[in-house]
Amino acid sequence: MSNVLMQVVDELRAGKLKVVDLTQPLGPDTPVIDLPAMFASSPGCSIETISRYDDKGPAWYWNTLRFGEHTGTHFDAPVHWITGKDLPDNTCETIPVHRFIGPACVIDVSAEVADDPDFLLTPQRIEQWEAEYGLIPGGAWVLMRTDWSKRTDPSEFLNAKEDGPHSPGFAKEASEFLAHKRDVLGVGVETIGTDAGQAGGFDPPFPNHHTMHGAGKFGLASLCNLDQLPPTGAIVIAAPLKVVKGSGSPLRVLAISPT
Ligand code: MN
Repeated sequence: MSNVLMQVVDELRAGKLKVVDLTQPLGPDTPVIDLPAMFASSPGCSIETISRYDDKGPAWYWNTLRFGEHTGTHFDAPVHWITGKDLPDNTCETIPVHRFIGPACVIDVSAEVADDPDFLLTPQRIEQWEAEYGLIPGGAWVLMRTDWSKRTDPSEFLNAKEDGPHSPGFAKEASEFLAHKRDVLGVGVETIGTDAGQAGGFDPPFPNHHTMHGAGKFGLASLCNLDQLPPTGAIVIAAPLKVVKGSGSPLRVLAISPT
């Protein structure tokens, strides 16, 4: 028996470790990304009753769920982007499961984002974090804490203006740094997608998707409760549904963290 695993269970029971739910509720009120009209859009989440202790099923209750793969708190697989379409093990059901678990590095830029909703994380800002907390290890989940999930009003969450949505993200160089110099599992954000609201106009468009998925890395969008995690010391478990040829899926993202 592994002493480490027994210690995890013991410390959870003793309250030295806690499980933090990084997941938003999934339902009809879940905001959905707004794409320009020339592109196909994703449906919202709908939940339809099959039966509820009634004629259709006297002793049981169950629902039919319908949603796009990229709805609410969700996982982006490498095949989601054209740059990752030919990589091996790039779909939800083929990604080796050990790649769903890694140490969390939480970079808190909530103060910067409060001043500038279009804030972009840069390699310089990452290195500033590393000078304080140590090098981001290979196989880490890098989570950008922006406190954006505290925008509970959907219109404030999407923050769409006449020139498109305004929300924080990654400078292209930061995604390249994390993918190639730090070999992360992927990045996680509190916004509706892993690119900035204005990133459709960047070069290349949506540079975080372009870079991360081209490097076989993952994305986690619409996370919450990142303010309950330490900068280092927690681990994140983020396993998508095993959808055949799936480009992503809603999922429950859990962190095990020191209290
Ligand atoms: Mn997505």
